[in-house]
Amino acid sequence: MTFKDLGLSEKILKAVEKKGYTVPTPIQEKSIPLVLKGKDLMASAQTGTGKTAGFTLPILELLTKNETPKNRPIRTLILTPTRELAAQVFENVKEYSRNLDIRSTVIFGGVKANPQIRQLRNGVDILVATPGRLLDLHNQKVLSLAKVEVFVLDEADRMLDMGFSRDINRIMELIPAKRQTLLFSATFSKEIRKLANGILSNPMSVEAEPENSTAEMVVQKFYRVDQARKTQAIIKLISEGNWKQVLVFTRTKYGANKLCKKMVQNKISAAPIHGNRSQNQRIKALKDFKDGKVRILVATDIAARGLDIPLLPHVVNFELPNQPEDYVHRIGRTGRAGASGEAISFVAVDELEYLQSIEILLNTQMDLGVIEGFEPDLSLKPKSKSKKRKPSGGGKRSFSSQKSYRPKRRR
Ligand code: AMP
Repeated sequence: MTFKDLGLSEKILKAVEKKGYTVPTPIQEKSIPLVLKGKDLMASAQTGTGKTAGFTLPILELLTKNETPKNRPIRTLILTPTRELAAQVFENVKEYSRNLDIRSTVIFGGVKANPQIRQLRNGVDILVATPGRLLDLHNQKVLSLAKVEVFVLDEADRMLDMGFSRDINRIMELIPAKRQTLLFSATFSKEIRKLANGILSNPMSVEAEPENSTAEMVVQKFYRVDQARKTQAIIKLISEGNWKQVLVFTRTKYGANKLCKKMVQNKISAAPIHGNRSQNQRIKALKDFKDGKVRILVATDIAARGLDIPLLPHVVNFELPNQPEDYVHRIGRTGRAGASGEAISFVAVDELEYLQSIEILLNTQMDLGVIEGFEPDLSLKPKSKSKKRKPSGGGKRSFSSQKSYRPKRRR
């Protein structure tokens, strides 16, 4: 299957070629023909599957088929939960529409509104937006959504997690009832299905990967490391492996800053990316990381959601997430679009219960290894955090030797 077989026209194919894509990813293969037919979609796809091109390419095809109205009203609205994702989706839209007479822009909070307002006043065909700024500018009558033909809700699950449910409902009132709607989500909870029922009409369902499974190409390793020794352990792995580009996750913003500082003290370039950093600081950190100027990007879950970092070889969970779904999102940053990757997780005694939740979600028992020289102190007891869930037995778990392995999948 090629992009041409999917029914895209020459100018779009040229842009795809320039990006270096040779074959469509499974989600692209499934969604592009359906979007071209004007269907509503309920797509199960996380970042790394190529979902952005999966909706952007056919939308561009549809927009260029119809004549552009003179006053250039917003004809496509793409809503994303985070600023980073909005910026990345916009980058993609720009790249894929490079040979077309299509205007697009992006709006999100945390930066000055005036340049965004100027762009909007010029008229845009495609608007990428986060909910808050969109409603804000709509209230100021800077934009109208009355001519939207295609509405994309990207990372719908994260939208709901971040409390955007009300904003979404409000936005739905502002766009025409007759429209095409595409909903993308990594997971399909009851809430998402309810939302989908309310906004989609006779949707086709497409899936990039089975729900709650991790990418086959990702090698997952879990190491039991005491919290106090994690910094030294990660420095050892990075230095000995001579890793050049590593995305590291911490649970807190404070933890991200602290780890970066320690890295830099050890002459490893690192930058944090989290909610307390300004938008410009985040963009710069991501750019420096992509350009190879910074080796280590230390991120919290929300900030990292949707980061477009192609071909990332290493992801380290310095701390396990307390929501097991976040583990799946985190390791989705590696082994993407056909490349293999390695996801390493450090597990302190207090995190054994988080590991257990991940194992339940993925229906897989993970081997827990140790790193030579960083054997855990088995006399340490977990501080019980939740009364409901029991920790999975402190030091009782046995460790395997330090070896790589592929996740065993049981479905
Ligand atoms: P996404 O899931 O949209 O965030 O895309 C994940 C990554 O895969 C991005 O870096 C894209 O540039 C890349 N990508 C998208 N489609 C393809 C393709 N057909 N072949 C190779 N890489 C792709």
